[in-house]
Amino acid sequence: MKTKTKTKTAFPVVIEKNGYTVVLHSPSKATVSGGRLPEAVNVSHLLGEGDANPKTKKNKVPTMGLSLFPYNGIGFGNVCAFAKNCVVSCLAHQGQGPVPSVMGARVAKTVLWYLARGWFLRRLNHELATFRGKYGRRRTVGVRLNMFSDIPWEDYGVIDNHPGITFYDYTKNPRRVGDVRPNYWVTFSYDGTNKAEAIRHLREGKNVSVVFYLETDEAVCGKAAHRQPLPATWNGFEVIDGGATDWRPSDPWGVVIGLRLLARTYESREAGISSGFAQKIDTRLPILS
Ligand code: SF4
Repeated sequence: MKTKTKTKTAFPVVIEKNGYTVVLHSPSKATVSGGRLPEAVNVSHLLGEGDANPKTKKNKVPTMGLSLFPYNGIGFGNVCAFAKNCVVSCLAHQGQGPVPSVMGARVAKTVLWYLARGWFLRRLNHELATFRGKYGRRRTVGVRLNMFSDIPWEDYGVIDNHPGITFYDYTKNPRRVGDVRPNYWVTFSYDGTNKAEAIRHLREGKNVSVVFYLETDEAVCGKAAHRQPLPATWNGFEVIDGGATDWRPSDPWGVVIGLRLLARTYESREAGISSGFAQKIDTRLPILS
């Protein structure tokens, strides 16, 4: 009887598709070029240190994140299947997002997700295990895989493969909210179009994030946007300050995670407001902060 033997990948592997060229040099190194990349990008790691990211650096728990390029921004595929009016205001395009090296790394990783799925998942699982191994078993460590994407990682075995890691994300997919796995907490994102689902999740004790903005005579952009207040309640549900930390697994259940509309430019702020993505704060009502 023949027995199945595992065949080793013979590197390098070259993949050409959808205008991109991917070269897999080894299990830990790849180069992506073409498409919307002005120059070739080398990828040697997928996860980024939480300290280097303004979203996760406030976390007390050691946290790493995976930053892909959102929606269908690489020219094919779509890592945000449920995105509607959030695309223009997406945080991926604020702050350091437009810096060519930052954008290039996110594009390259997203191309690898689509064109070299096996390589990507092996690399990701390896990096997750290495990260977990850096800390003692009693120390909680966290990972946010959808920094700028909305991929159901539980469907790819990633969450179950690493029971010692606490994963968390935001999603616009109404079918994967709350404690998706014992080690995976997912907060639903209200975007101005999915209110019925947002209210249902809140009534069921799950959490919903809502983006708020303060109406003023001048557009509040850049650092000033972080100082916008938040309302104390939204549709009768308690609001907590989602900007104090990004660590969502410790949030109480059944609350609104209040976020501020953070826009780099007047245009992106206007887009977030006119699309209905961000909610105006009624300053006559109680304010949280
Ligand atoms: S779903 Fe999230 S990551 Fe995707 S475009 Fe919308 S805000 Fe950005």
